[in-house]
Amino acid sequence: MLKLTFLGTSASVPSVERSMPSIAVRGKELYLWDCGEGAQRQMMKYKVGFGSVRGIFITHMHLDHFLGIYGLIETLRLSNTFSQKLAVFAPRKFGDLLISRWDFLEINEIRQGLLLKDSEAAISAFKVRHSGESFGFVYKEHDKLKFYEEKAHRLGLAGPMFREIQENGFVKIGRKRVELEDVTWTKTGRKIVYTGDCLPSRSTVEAAKGADLLIHDATFANEFQKEAEERNHSTAEQAAEVAKEAGVKQLALTHISGRYRDAAELLKEARAVFPNTIVAEDGLGLEITRKEDE
Ligand SMILES: [Zn+2]
Ligand SMILES: [Zn+2]
Repeated sequence: MLKLTFLGTSASVPSVERSMPSIAVRGKELYLWDCGEGAQRQMMKYKVGFGSVRGIFITHMHLDHFLGIYGLIETLRLSNTFSQKLAVFAPRKFGDLLISRWDFLEINEIRQGLLLKDSEAAISAFKVRHSGESFGFVYKEHDKLKFYEEKAHRLGLAGPMFREIQENGFVKIGRKRVELEDVTWTKTGRKIVYTGDCLPSRSTVEAAKGADLLIHDATFANEFQKEAEERNHSTAEQAAEVAKEAGVKQLALTHISGRYRDAAELLKEARAVFPNTIVAEDGLGLEITRKEDE
């Protein structure tokens, strides 16, 4: 399973409908991308079991993106259920802001590139244009080697030969030599990309290449393009242009300005450029599936 839950989808200030930025990513493990104010209550509300969170990733040091981490880690400390450390990845200055360092926390400074790996996927960071050090994140499942079972059996592969062929790249059956690439194919892992706050940029296009889902800053509609630029944010249309250029499968707009009670305008402008667009709402759960998985 690979499932996202949008815990907060607002920009800068909360509204009745939208809480502060935070996204739960549930694959083999549970991770949070940003942890805005109130994230822990949103997790309870939308049934994201927060006791099992393994890593919290903060895109940048604007308060709307990390204030919720204090409440969450205090709750986790009180519940005292940690069997392994909780990894926090944040820009350099974050460590100075922690009131105390509990031993169940492991604070890591974000640098571009690989941040963390589990048995199913890896999370890495890329730089975005916003304010100071700002990063976006990529969740990418590991590619897996799959056998064409029928063909493999037909060619005589059996038992330990499957391991042997993976180790050596070939196997000998009698006088026949069977190459690994003749009996296998690579199943590429699913990929989700989150920009955090940002202007549209080349780095995002590169990071999002071929992603199953791109979650992009879409604070404003076109009428406020100038304001978006001054405040280092994107319009919905710009997000759509990035999605199109990167060739992603789906785009989710988030970080929606409080001036849009109804995000229909943002959606319309984005869909004119990139049809497979949705606007993220608090509580929206998205399962990332592919046709071949069904
Ligand atoms: Zn923000
Ligand atoms: Zn920001």
